[in-house]
Amino acid sequence: MVDHALPVCVWLKRDLRAADHPALAEAVAQARGGAVFAVFLYEPEVLGQPEWDASHTEFQRECLADLEAALGRLGIRLVTRRGEAVAMLDELRRETGFRLLVAHEETGTGVTYARDRRVRRWAREAGVEFLELPQTGVVRRLASRNGWNRLWERRMEAPQVNVPRSTCRGGHASLARLATAGILGCRDLGQPTDTKDRQPGGERAASDVLDDFLARRGRHYSGGISSPLSASTSCSRLSPYLAFGAVSMRSVWQASEARRQELQASLLTASQRDRADLKAWQRSLKGVQSRLHWHCHFMQKLEDEPAIEFHNMLRAADGLRETEVCLERLAAWQAGRTGYPLVDACLRSLVATGWLTFRMRALVVSFASYSLWLHWRPTGLFLARHFLDFEPGIHWSQLQMQSGTTGINTLRIYNPTKQAIEQDPRGVFIRRWLPELADVPPAYVHMPWTMPADVQGTAGCMIGRDYPAPLVDHTLAVREAKRRLAVVRNAPEARSEARGVAERHGSRHDRRGAMQQDPVRRSLTRETTRRRTAAPQHDSQQWLPFAAPESPGDPTALGDDGSP
Ligand SMILES: Cc1cc2nc3c(=O)[nH]c(=O)nc-3n(C[C@H](O)[C@H](O)[C@H](O)COP(=O)(O)OP(=O)(O)OC[C@H]3O[C@@H](n4cnc5c(N)ncnc54)[C@H](O)[C@@H]3O)c2cc1C
Repeated sequence: MVDHALPVCVWLKRDLRAADHPALAEAVAQARGGAVFAVFLYEPEVLGQPEWDASHTEFQRECLADLEAALGRLGIRLVTRRGEAVAMLDELRRETGFRLLVAHEETGTGVTYARDRRVRRWAREAGVEFLELPQTGVVRRLASRNGWNRLWERRMEAPQVNVPRSTCRGGHASLARLATAGILGCRDLGQPTDTKDRQPGGERAASDVLDDFLARRGRHYSGGISSPLSASTSCSRLSPYLAFGAVSMRSVWQASEARRQELQASLLTASQRDRADLKAWQRSLKGVQSRLHWHCHFMQKLEDEPAIEFHNMLRAADGLRETEVCLERLAAWQAGRTGYPLVDACLRSLVATGWLTFRMRALVVSFASYSLWLHWRPTGLFLARHFLDFEPGIHWSQLQMQSGTTGINTLRIYNPTKQAIEQDPRGVFIRRWLPELADVPPAYVHMPWTMPADVQGTAGCMIGRDYPAPLVDHTLAVREAKRRLAVVRNAPEARSEARGVAERHGSRHDRRGAMQQDPVRRSLTRETTRRRTAAPQHDSQQWLPFAAPESPGDPTALGDDGSP
């Protein structure tokens, strides 16, 4: 029973928005006209994680600045403190007397997982009710993956939860007197300067990005997301906003669904010319909506098994790479100096901007894990630090998926030269990020090591001096990687263990959703399936089946796009 003389505390974490915020709305409802205040904690153990970067601090600062203003309009004070979570929450409890703490469930790193357990224990001992609410499609204490898709759909279709203005009557005098650390940036926190040319943070920025995508950029999503030349504008670019909770998954899904229905209605009266355009839009929206589903699908894996942040999902793969991490190779990969231009350009652009499109993320991980035989953990930590959108559940699941250690996914070994020729045919992206290759003739830009000495001289790019020779022979390295993986893959124990992984984490194909109900979307799905079935086998990329696919017998279950 909440004592209405006491304020209710909302603990903000990765939910830095005022709109569609179940925790805020619940706190206001429980306070029944009483005071509510919000707290954000700058926790040294979170800020000190190897995954954390100055860009995260600054993006978070921008989100908090927006949020503080929005909360002010709702009559809710934002208080920030710097210190360990239990100590800070206990301090605030003593200062305000709150007995109800409301937060969203977080599927975070090992550090935040352990922190949340400590907070739960503290709350029990201090007599504080700690209410944790879902904010995405991730289900806590899920008994089985069967039926999960339906749960996800129900959550996405549920009405948004906004804090009604009228119920917020501002605060208690004691809340106005609470000390606050303010909204802190890198300098305040003693961190290095954020040097990334990145997306701006905040709820307003999130809303602008979403609106622009749905009104304009989204038309080119389908077909435009793989090449690094088009991806930065064709992709939605919503990932950092979703990761920091500057926008809710549900509101993105609902906005995309509203747009899809609007297009659907336009199709009925459209001219032949406009129909093609509308259908392209529909393909794009279908693509985005599936990815929103994958977002939670992947996060659910970490929620169900937090240890996959640290160890192989398929334990039979233990020992494959753990003991022989070559630091020299790791350093060259991190610096974008492997000698493979597209891989190097991707890594340098990531460090500069904080973002890469899916295909290029998969490429750099495939190169690290198969060609350089590096373990996914150190490469994953480096990427996490530089991805502005670092989302542990997606990240570690994808890292393992692209490294062949899940046991349930097709191995996708990308050929870095083939990808470069296909995705950046004239070397525009490569030259942008590798100035040393600026004057290399087009015929050599994807394989600069094949340049004759005189061409190297004219281009001002001596291989081994200005730009490295290939660190490894990709073909030979991949042959060896396949041999090692086959030993693991074919072992009977691995096959039987993989069946267990599929049961626990594998996707199920029981989605009802808009896509299945809508006849246009159904026909699009049939068309895609036909095209996929008729497509020739990939040649020099290596697509190898693993032991137990997530959904046996479904040829479309294992897409070349990160699909589960
Ligand atoms: C090795 C690796 C690591 C990754 N790490 C992250 C990460 O830390 N955080 C992150 O948000 N995404 C991660 N992804 C998935 C994907 O690359 C990014 O979500 C996407 O590039 C973000 O850009 P966008 O918002 O424009 O995506 P869009 O293509 O516009 O997709 C819309 C949203 O759907 C979700 N989404 C898109 N693709 C995927 C996918 N393959 N799996 C799960 N969800 C997806 C994201 O929330 C994204 O914002 C990773 C992929 C790989 C291969």
